[in-house]
Amino acid sequence: MTRKIIHLDLDAFFCSVEELLDPSLKGKMFAVGGSPSGRGVITSCSYAARQKGVHSAMPTSQALKLCPNLILVHSGFKHYSDYSRKVMDILRDTTPIVEQISVDEAFLDVSDMPQPIKSIASDLQKRVMQETGLPCSLGCATSRLVAKIANDFGKKQVKTGRSPQQITVIEPGEEESFLAPLDIQALWGVGPKTAAQLKKRGVESIGKIATLSDVELKSIFGQHAESMRRRAKGIDNTPLSVDGDPKSVSNETTFHEDQDDIQYLLKVLRHLSDKVGSRLRKAELAGSVVQIKIRYSDFTTLTRQSSLKECTDLDQLIYDEAQALLLKNLIKGRPVRLLGVGVTKLDKPHHQLSLWEPETDRKKELVKAVDELRERFGKDIIKRADSLDETKNHFD
Ligand SMILES: [Mg+2]
Repeated sequence: MTRKIIHLDLDAFFCSVEELLDPSLKGKMFAVGGSPSGRGVITSCSYAARQKGVHSAMPTSQALKLCPNLILVHSGFKHYSDYSRKVMDILRDTTPIVEQISVDEAFLDVSDMPQPIKSIASDLQKRVMQETGLPCSLGCATSRLVAKIANDFGKKQVKTGRSPQQITVIEPGEEESFLAPLDIQALWGVGPKTAAQLKKRGVESIGKIATLSDVELKSIFGQHAESMRRRAKGIDNTPLSVDGDPKSVSNETTFHEDQDDIQYLLKVLRHLSDKVGSRLRKAELAGSVVQIKIRYSDFTTLTRQSSLKECTDLDQLIYDEAQALLLKNLIKGRPVRLLGVGVTKLDKPHHQLSLWEPETDRKKELVKAVDELRERFGKDIIKRADSLDETKNHFD
């Protein structure tokens, strides 16, 4: 299966937070950094300052020479980490498969979301802006490697003095040709020393690395020769490393057109509940809180939840709860842009329950059989009775 990986990077993160705290900084040349008297360096600089040649890691004293009006600010890391957490929560709300790599960067694996990767990325970008006020850029590709390089590449194309807010998509199959002309240092594993060695041999672009002989590659990269050849061709199968256990399992969908037809919304809710149930069972987890998320066409977002008496991983129980929540909370006639279902308060499934409730036991076996068939024949082979517009007594 072709993966869908997104790399998200907040644009000039510290400076963007400073602008939110003090809007008068907007558009000005300013930076977050250490004192110019000591050996302070610039940590982050505004895009206006970048146009004067200021960049991060530059000694503050040198930055002030290039840009004498540079305003130095620093509101403290507490603000930065608060904003960072808000952003990461939004990402984890989109998919549980998030790998945070720094305070302002993360990868998301959205392979199991049905929308095109570009629209997932653009929804994320809008949502991060709407809910935190922070601009970000995203790279989309089939791997972490290419998504990250794509994002860096896309951001560099913008030289307007404003935050880039780019979305760069590399289509499946285009990875190698996208990387080929780029400077070798854009590739992971090529630091300044290796770059110097490669340049001595006339290798300046990533495409050239892929064409080196085995012997040449080995002499430069040693035991990493083969993996560097694969990287240079844009091949990277490493999965995201997700910290700890997931706190929730959820699925959501953004409609191509906003929807206000309740029957249609319920059908989608049914499908999302099935998916959440199947992902829980796959992970051998169950949860006792069911959540729904409704986002209206104006981006107002509402989440509602209710607790179950017991943990569950059953589609029907998740759907029953989600349906009740939706019917109770949906504002009639208001077009819906996104609908989501999630289960939290995760635990291992309680199997004792079934000893006392043979009905639940039978359901579990049926669900297991359905999962196995879906696994073997694809997701659409088995449709529930009510997704074919019949009543929902399929399990009763
Ligand atoms: Mg950043």
